Amino acid sequence: MIVVMRHGSTETQIQAVKDTIEKHGLKGHLSEGSERTVIGVVGQIVTALQTEMERLSGVAEVVRISKPYKLSTREFKNGNTIVQVGDAIIGGKDPVVIAGPCAVESEDQIMATAQVVKEQGSKILRGGAFKPRSSPYSFRGMGVEGLKLLAQAGKEFNLPVITEAMAPEDVDVVASYADIIQIGARNAQNFNLLDEVGKLDKPVLLKRGFSSSYEEWLLAAEYVLSGGNSKVILCERGIRTFEPYTRFTVDLAAVPVIKKLSHLPIIVDPSHSTGTWDLVTPIALAAIAAGAHGIIVDVHPNPSMAKCDGAQALSFENFRSMTVQVDSISRAITQANT
Ligand code: PEP
Ligand code: MN
Repeated sequence: MIVVMRHGSTETQIQAVKDTIEKHGLKGHLSEGSERTVIGVVGQIVTALQTEMERLSGVAEVVRISKPYKLSTREFKNGNTIVQVGDAIIGGKDPVVIAGPCAVESEDQIMATAQVVKEQGSKILRGGAFKPRSSPYSFRGMGVEGLKLLAQAGKEFNLPVITEAMAPEDVDVVASYADIIQIGARNAQNFNLLDEVGKLDKPVLLKRGFSSSYEEWLLAAEYVLSGGNSKVILCERGIRTFEPYTRFTVDLAAVPVIKKLSHLPIIVDPSHSTGTWDLVTPIALAAIAAGAHGIIVDVHPNPSMAKCDGAQALSFENFRSMTVQVDSISRAITQANT
C-alpha cells in the first residue's frame, strides 16, 4: 500500500502517517520525489489501516499496490533510483563500466588490472575474494586477504570497489572493505543473506538467480529494500536454458522489462553470462544499446593463467578495444534519445 501525500504536506503530517503505520506494527518507507512524497507500507495490511490513513491530514490518497513486490515497483516510485559511489552514477544517463578480475589472485594481478581499468575510464573495480565455485576443489578466493588487496588497489587508483559476500556472517567484514556488496547468482534467493545486506547503508548489486523469473528477482530485491537499504542495483547475468553453447543464455529483454517494472538501475554481466571472452564485447554493446545502466566485465592480465573463469576474461588489449566500442555505442544511444 502507498500513502500519497498532498503537495506541500508538512513534516508533522508525514510523521503522523509514519506513527500510524508503526502503531499497526508495520514499517513505512519514505520516497520523496520532485512531484510527490509517498510512503510505502509493507507487511500484512488490514483494511482498518487503509481507512485510518485516508482520514489523516495531508494525505491525498491511499493506493494498494497490485504487484507482489512493493518497494521495487514503479507504482511506489516513479523516477529512477540513482546509486552514486565515488564518481560513478549508476542509473543515470551514462552507462557505467565495472571491470576487474573474476577473483583477486595477488597484489601484482589486482594492481596491474586496476591501473588499466582506471586508464580506460571505467568507474568501478571488481574482484572476488569469497568465490562461490561449483566445485569445492576449485580456487575459492583469497578471503579477507583478497578484500585487503582489492581495497588497496581501489585506494591507489581512486576507484570504488565491488566484491561478493557469500554468507550472512561475512557481510560485516566485506562491507568494511567494499563500496558495493555483490550478491551472486547462486545466492540470489539466500533470504538470510539478503536480510543482512538490507541492514547496510551501502549499495548492493543483486545478480539474477539463473533460474529466477523477473518477479522472483524483484522479490529478492524487496528483501534488501524492506530492510531499509534503498541502494539496490540489479544485474542480469544469464539464465539456464537448453542451449549448452554459451555458459548461460543472456536475457537482454530483462533490461527493458525491468526498466518498465522497476525504478531500480539494471546492469548486465556479459562475462559470466556468455562464459567466452570473444562474446563479451558484442553482448556488452547490445546491453548498452538495450538501455542497460552499465556492464560488469572480467578483465585479467593473463587470462590463460587465471585461477577463476579465465575463458571469459578479457585481456588488457581486448578490454581497451571493448571500452572504445562501448563509448561510441553509449554516445550514439544518448544522441538517439535526445
Ligand atoms: C562473479 O561475478 O564473480 C560471479 C560469481 O557471478 P555470478 O554470481 O553471476 O555467477
Ligand atoms: Mn567469475
